[in-house]
Amino acid sequence: MTISSKAVPRIVVIGSVNTDIILRVAALPRPNETILGRGSETVVGGKGLNQAVAAARLGAETHMVAAIGDDAHGDAARAHLIARGVDVAHVTTTAGTATGTAHILVADDASNSIVVTPGANAALTPAMVEAATALIAGADAVVVQLEVPLPTVQAALEIARRHTVRTILNPAPSDRAALALFPLADLVTPNETELADLTGIDGSNDAAIHAALNDLRQRGARDGLVTLGPRGSAALIGGMLVFQPALRIAAVDTTGAGDVFNAALACELARGFPLLRAMEFASAAAALSVSRASADSAPTRSEVETLLAR
Ligand code: ADP
Repeated sequence: MTISSKAVPRIVVIGSVNTDIILRVAALPRPNETILGRGSETVVGGKGLNQAVAAARLGAETHMVAAIGDDAHGDAARAHLIARGVDVAHVTTTAGTATGTAHILVADDASNSIVVTPGANAALTPAMVEAATALIAGADAVVVQLEVPLPTVQAALEIARRHTVRTILNPAPSDRAALALFPLADLVTPNETELADLTGIDGSNDAAIHAALNDLRQRGARDGLVTLGPRGSAALIGGMLVFQPALRIAAVDTTGAGDVFNAALACELARGFPLLRAMEFASAAAALSVSRASADSAPTRSEVETLLAR
């Protein structure tokens, strides 16, 4: 089969930028308790930023539409994106707001406690997305998630649809209010938990996954795909439930696996490849990121291709 593919697709990611402050503790503190931490780590994150960085590393011409605060975290995030080749012309520094943060406490028993403060992410307006209309209109794929206000996500999907640009809606973190946006999305990509939240169907077996993915379609999405952690991913293709098994690797850190998966999926779909081929590429990209400890673990295209050629 010959597939005409575009070597360097243009991807626009509209979404969140966060600073993750990870604090390692022996046990989570009780109310009114002060404890000493074992150590801390500050990393640039947010689903939007992670997906944009992953797309750039996979060789896409990547643009981000986002809002950051006028603080040191915002400066660091902007520099992080620029250093990784993401265009930040539509990353707005919003005066008087703090960059979004996630304070993540991780205890020795792996239990955690997380406080997310959206900060500037909540200040990403539909008008900021409309200002990027020309960029979106010229994209090969637009990727959105749910860490920025829903009207902003809606504006992005509407502009893309108006210009017949392919859209991927990663409904994370899960929010049933996003169901109203499904008719604007070409592909909706929940993980297992999000799929259950959105459809009310617990995808514990193939028939249930099939029914849940069908439900996404009935709610208006053109296509639905679910990521299943170490079990891989599944989608309905021509009415058939098709599985892409995960690659067997030694998992070191599964944080952000879904972000790398979604970015890789977007790249391959934007290059003109069919969904199943894009899922295969995305599962290899996600597996490589899972096999690495670093928070900045998205692989390059050649790393993914080498793994797939094995
Ligand atoms: P999220 O990070 O959004 O919760 P998942 O956990 O479903 O998403 O992971 C996304 C994808 O990453 C999976 O579909 C799979 O391809 C890959 N993946 C996740 N965990 C592993 C693992 N332990 N080994 C190999 N691949 C994995």
